[in-house]
Amino acid sequence: MPVTTNTNIAVSLPVIAIVVPCYNEEAALPISAARLLGLLDRMSADGMVSPDSYILCCNDGSRDGTWSVIERLHVEDRRLKGISLAHNRGHQYALLAGLISVKDKCDAAVSIDADLQDDPEAIVEMVKLFSEGKEIVYGVRSSRATDTWFKRSTAHAFYTLQHRMGLDTVYDHADYRLMSRRALELLSEYGESNLFLRGIVPQIGLDTAIVTYERHERVAGESKYPLAKMLSFSIDGITSFSAKPIRIIFMIGLILLLVDVLVAIYVFSAYFGHSTISGWTSIMLSVWFLGSLILMSIGVVGEYIGKIFNEVKHRPRFAIRDRLWD
Ligand code: UDP
Ligand code: MG
Repeated sequence: MPVTTNTNIAVSLPVIAIVVPCYNEEAALPISAARLLGLLDRMSADGMVSPDSYILCCNDGSRDGTWSVIERLHVEDRRLKGISLAHNRGHQYALLAGLISVKDKCDAAVSIDADLQDDPEAIVEMVKLFSEGKEIVYGVRSSRATDTWFKRSTAHAFYTLQHRMGLDTVYDHADYRLMSRRALELLSEYGESNLFLRGIVPQIGLDTAIVTYERHERVAGESKYPLAKMLSFSIDGITSFSAKPIRIIFMIGLILLLVDVLVAIYVFSAYFGHSTISGWTSIMLSVWFLGSLILMSIGVVGEYIGKIFNEVKHRPRFAIRDRLWD
């Protein structure tokens, strides 16, 4: 939006959209919204962002009063907008719904969790880098001191596993990032149903940068990501981007083939030593090795067939029920 400065030179300040996925966040949202609006006020007073910058809360089919909180906050301050998904689709989809909704209505979007565990102050640095021409700025945690030991170590184990599996993700970066309008447009061209944004965004390319920040405790409420959800998220990430598991199965097959030679030597020596009953040799050779190989192969092939199954259905990835947009 063009703004006239006191020297009468029209400069264009970027409109920033802060996208916040919310699932059962009635306790955290009023606190987070106030802080984020305060941050926008400050940045626009400093001449960093347009006063038209806004927050978009994406209610991910919450079961509590999250949507009423969003409605109330919208009445209090029109810069806080909202969309509500028809049902709970998960963090990634709520975020995508938000990013797609703002892509034509901002110069850059910042995604941040409703609990403000990711320090909102880092947005200032992100916007600075955006003004210098960076199109994607990743928020990276400098420490995880406030996470439990369990959460920290499982998260690191997942990152390591994903990297070993050939997945190009940014270490210790969750979904706290700034994306320019162009990056958002490119993102919207990814039509896959199995959504793992941390894997897709690095594939977009463009000029990127990193901002580090301290991770805090939740401002209110409880984590919506228990271990089971995290585990399935991580497996999803790997199987959406990497065919390495198939190669691993092939390697296991190769190793078993070598072991098979030793077993064959043992089985044949027993056979020629006349210490076997009829049929034992052939059954030993085939059942033992083929059985395990076939079972594992079916498991892996099944994973990929499951993915193809999901992709070919081309289901809508989100369905917006309500919109607050004026
Ligand atoms: N969230 C969501 N849908 C879900 C689960 C979570 O939109 O099904 C949102 C949640 O409201 C929060 C963000 O995703 O803004 C991250 O969730 P949370 O803070 O519970 O995860 P954690 O930080 O514990 O990993
Ligand atoms: Mg959190």
